[in-house]
Amino acid sequence: MTQERVAYVNGKIVPESQATVSISDRGFLLGDAVFDTTRTFGHQIFKLQEHLERLYDSLKWMRIDPQMTLDEMSDLTMDVLERNLPTVDVDDDIWVTQRVTRGLRLAGADIQGAADRPTVIIECFPIPFQERAHYYRDGMPIVTPSVRRTPPEAMSPRAKTHNYINLIQADMEARAQNPHAYALLLDMNGNLCEGNGSNIFLVKDGRIRTPRSQYVLGGISRETTIELAHELDIEISEDDIDVFDAYTADEIFVTSTSLCICPVSTFNGAQVGDGSTGPVTDRLQKAYSGLVSIDIIGQYTRWLE
Ligand code: PMP
Repeated sequence: MTQERVAYVNGKIVPESQATVSISDRGFLLGDAVFDTTRTFGHQIFKLQEHLERLYDSLKWMRIDPQMTLDEMSDLTMDVLERNLPTVDVDDDIWVTQRVTRGLRLAGADIQGAADRPTVIIECFPIPFQERAHYYRDGMPIVTPSVRRTPPEAMSPRAKTHNYINLIQADMEARAQNPHAYALLLDMNGNLCEGNGSNIFLVKDGRIRTPRSQYVLGGISRETTIELAHELDIEISEDDIDVFDAYTADEIFVTSTSLCICPVSTFNGAQVGDGSTGPVTDRLQKAYSGLVSIDIIGQYTRWLE
């Protein structure tokens, strides 16, 4: 489709090609910004309220005032999405993101030098179903890089900020080993933590474990998966999980807004289970599909046919 997407930038809806931020914006200069991303399923937005609550928690932690209420942000998000839906194919879906920076730099990096108006952006971006389709046939290889996830003592991983540097470094290390691999960072204690945009779960003897919430971004799909496990009567807990646990797991899967629940095939090159989607992962994927009224696997694998 040829119609150009639009974005919201500080009170205006503009074509994406004209949606720009100033070179003096602190979000650009210093990473002094937060964001959040949800997606549509069958063109319906998913858990917008939960995503906006997480955005407003990130803003509060950063002490950035978006100068609009959560309800106003919600209305603007729906407006931007509706304007962009005509660009989305009937079988496709789209990411929907809000970004809020502290605004323009007035004097160096000094916090006193921030302008008193934040920069607010709302934008949409196509989900790369085709590029990622093979992960649902072959499973996802994950690799633990040398770089560790930011500890809460340094910068809370629970806030979704514009600083993804260690996650990006981690992905570069992982991709150097296997071009399809996703990085799974360890925390400072050597426990499994999270990836660049995803949370991790291990299954052993029918029980699911996921890293503790103090050390990771509280993924909305992580939360959704925990709820589905409860509904399915599958035991699930937050725990310290180490590399030994990963090597000996029956199943591993990752969750994210776009991936939903994606099976992991190898951990540092070692096969997980029998290398295919395990029974617990399969049950959760089916429950996820039921919840969102979309075949979440089929939406990816249709590209492989
Ligand atoms: N961890 C990090 C660092 C992330 O950026 C994301 C993506 N938002 C996630 C986990 C998964 O969160 P969600 O399920 O809300 O997409």
